[in-house]
Amino acid sequence: MLPQAVMQQAQSELLDWHGLGTSVMEISHRSKEFIALTEQAEIDLRELMSIPANYHVLFMHGGGRGQFSAVVNNFLGQQGKALYLVSGSWSQSAVAEAKKLTSDAQIDSLDIVENINGKNQVVLPDLNKIDRDYRYLHYCTNETVDGIEIFDELDSPWPIIADMSSNIMSREINVNKYALIYAGAQKNIGPSGLSIVIVRDDMLELPSLPQSSIMDYRLAVKHGSMYNTPPTFAWYLAAEVFKWLKVRGGVAAMAKINLHKAALLYDFIDSSDFYTSKVSVKNRSVMNVTFYLTNEALNGEFLNQASEEKLVALKGHRSVGGMRASIYNAMPIEGVEALVEFMQDFANKHK
Ligand code: PMP
Repeated sequence: MLPQAVMQQAQSELLDWHGLGTSVMEISHRSKEFIALTEQAEIDLRELMSIPANYHVLFMHGGGRGQFSAVVNNFLGQQGKALYLVSGSWSQSAVAEAKKLTSDAQIDSLDIVENINGKNQVVLPDLNKIDRDYRYLHYCTNETVDGIEIFDELDSPWPIIADMSSNIMSREINVNKYALIYAGAQKNIGPSGLSIVIVRDDMLELPSLPQSSIMDYRLAVKHGSMYNTPPTFAWYLAAEVFKWLKVRGGVAAMAKINLHKAALLYDFIDSSDFYTSKVSVKNRSVMNVTFYLTNEALNGEFLNQASEEKLVALKGHRSVGGMRASIYNAMPIEGVEALVEFMQDFANKHK
């Protein structure tokens, strides 16, 4: 979801943005009006996430997957090695992309999910005991498909790169812990296509591989994220989402509401023997609540009846099955309440 207020704002100024008589989509990305928009967007994002001055903020093309390759090409060079922690399907995809662009020998990966008492739980290795020299450690803070979130801050001897595509700005984090944070926009930021990269300036001194110019962080820094024509409408919507977040009290306020929304759902699932969660309490995602019907033969009926109640996009990813409720920042508490009520009714009718 995108915040409804942002969509309405966009609708109201679609044909005439800032009295210019044209849409924001139609003006030059180098016009003073658009540059002012991008400057404000960066100021707002820096404030929302408390981004220190030694970090660059980039608005890039190519979504989350674009960054799977960008980090490799920008930092590994011909010789560099990297360690990838695997906690679910997105971090696994990041490994596959990294291996495709380098050699198997350059990429090490560690599976960090264990089945403990029938639930998936992240068990972090002691990274300081690994005697290898890596350019960076890559991990995903929230596995969108699996519903697994890592809340612990990692203690790593190597620079940490985090894929925060599906939980950026859902709670406060300490940016100083990361060498680079990236996120595809389409969860908590804006529409798809855009990605946000927050990179510490010393990382840009690492040797890079020959690569496409539009994914080159150094060029993006040099050209203010405008080496080529950026996705301007997505950038504009992201800027409006940042304003919306600030008005609502920023990330800390969002985090409180998000915890409340997730607790409503998880508490209900735990209280019912009709539904079950396969994720240990420690790693249950606040953004993507995955759950299963104990009688999976009812899955189709559950989804059909839910959609009749206007509760949509509940089908779990095909690789894991079951159900998934994505309750990003823009999802109001009423949406979660309606889902819990529906789940309760459905269970009562099918017991
Ligand atoms: N990482 C994570 C955690 C994601 O959830 C997604 C998309 N759902 C991606 C990467 C890939 O993003 P995109 O589709 O924008 O390339």
